[in-house]
Amino acid sequence: MSCVSHLVCVACGAEYAEGSVFTCPSCGPQEGILDVRYDFRVAETMLRRHALESRPRSLWRYGELLPVEHPERPPVPDVGWTPVLDAPRLARALGVGRLRLKDEGRSASNSFKDRASAVAVARAVEERRSALACASTGNAATSLAYCAAVAGVRAYIFVPREVPEGKLAQLLAYGATVFRVGGTYDQAYSLCTQACEAFDWYNRNCAVNPYLVEGKKTGGLELAEQTVDDPPNWVACSVGDGCSIAGVAKGLAEMKMLGFTSRIPRMLGVQAAGVAPVAYAFTRGRPSVKAEGTTYADSINVPVPRNWRKAVIAVQESGGAFVTVADEEIMRAVGLCGRLAGVFAEPAAAAAIAGVATARQRGILDERDDVVAMITGNGLKDVPGALRALGQPHDVRPELADVAAVVEREEAA
Ligand SMILES: *Cc1c(COP(=O)(O)O)cnc(C)c1O
Repeated sequence: MSCVSHLVCVACGAEYAEGSVFTCPSCGPQEGILDVRYDFRVAETMLRRHALESRPRSLWRYGELLPVEHPERPPVPDVGWTPVLDAPRLARALGVGRLRLKDEGRSASNSFKDRASAVAVARAVEERRSALACASTGNAATSLAYCAAVAGVRAYIFVPREVPEGKLAQLLAYGATVFRVGGTYDQAYSLCTQACEAFDWYNRNCAVNPYLVEGKKTGGLELAEQTVDDPPNWVACSVGDGCSIAGVAKGLAEMKMLGFTSRIPRMLGVQAAGVAPVAYAFTRGRPSVKAEGTTYADSINVPVPRNWRKAVIAVQESGGAFVTVADEEIMRAVGLCGRLAGVFAEPAAAAAIAGVATARQRGILDERDDVVAMITGNGLKDVPGALRALGQPHDVRPELADVAAVVEREEAA
C-alpha cells in the first residue's frame, strides 16, 4: 500500500533506508530532521482522479503517500476532508480577489494537528507500541489524546504551565495522562524526550518525528484535490514550529508530481511579531539567537522552533513570503473571521487572516490574488483568548428601552 522509498536529511541531503534512523546520525537530532520520500512511479498509477472518488473521505484516502502500511485497519481516527469555504465578504474587507478558508477547526479534536496525530498513532500501533507521548502547547496534545482514545492506546502528555483550559479539558476528557511541567515549553519538550527514551514510548513530537509532517501533508493533498478545477495562487498558514506549513506545501507539491495540478500556489508563512524566529530565518538563513518575546496566540508561541529549516525551504521553493503580525492584528482577525465568514478561529488560526491583511498592505498580495487561508484551530479551544479579542456583551436591565438604545447605536454605526 505505502509507496515510501527512503528518508533524506533536510540539512545535509544524506539518504537513509526507511525505518533505519529517526534523525540524521551525522547532523544530530537538533539539525538532522528527515524528510520522507516516495516512489512516484508507483503512486501515480494508483492516485488517479477517478480512483480517488470512491475512497474514504478522510486522510486515509492518500494511503500510497503515507508512511503507514495498513492505514485502513481499524480502529483508525476519522480525520481529514475538512471543507474549503468561500469567504467573499472577508476577501473584500482584506482587499484580495478571492479568499477561501480551509476550516480545520471542524476536525475531530478541532485542530489541524489531528492529521499528524492520526499518522503517529497508526505508526505506533504498527510498531506494536502501547503508549505515545508528546510535549505541546495544546493542540498536538489534544489531537494525540483523541487519536489514542480511538485506537485504544495510552497517551502521556507534557504541557507547560500556561495551557488554555479548553485544551486541558479535552486532554482529560480523552483520558490522557497529563504532566503539567513547571517550566517553559522547551523544558516540557526536553522532559518528554527523556521520558520517551526511558520508557520506550512512541515520540509524537512533530519536528524530530519525520512521519508526522506526512500527516500534515494531507492538508495540502486534500486542498489540491478539493480545488483541482480552480486552484488558489497563494496559501496562507500560521507558523510555530514550522511543520504545518512545510506539510501543506509538501502535499501541494506532491499533487503536482501526480499530475493533479500544473501550478503550485505560493506559501505565505505568518508568525506573531513577538515570536518570529522562522520569519527571521527566512531572510537571514538561521533563527535569531536573541531571546524571543511572547504572543497571546499560544499555539504559535514557539521561541525555539525545531523544524524551521523545513518551513523555510518550503516557502522558498514555492516562491512565497513570510510576514509577521502584531497581537492586536490577530485579535482583530478573530472578529473579522467570525463576523464576515462565519468561522470561529482560535488566535493562532486567525493569525493567517491577519497575515493576508498584512501581505496585502505590503504589496506582497494584490487585489487579484486568489488566496486560501488554513484555519488551523477552532476558537472554542481558547475561550479567554477569544474574549480578549472580542470584547464584552451589552449589559442591559430587563427593559426594552435599554435594548432600543443599543439597537439605535448599532444601526447608526
Ligand atoms: C500548531 C499550530 C500551528 C502551527 O503549526 P506548526 O507546525 O507549529 O508551525 C498553527 N495553528 C494552530 C491552531 C496550531 O495548533
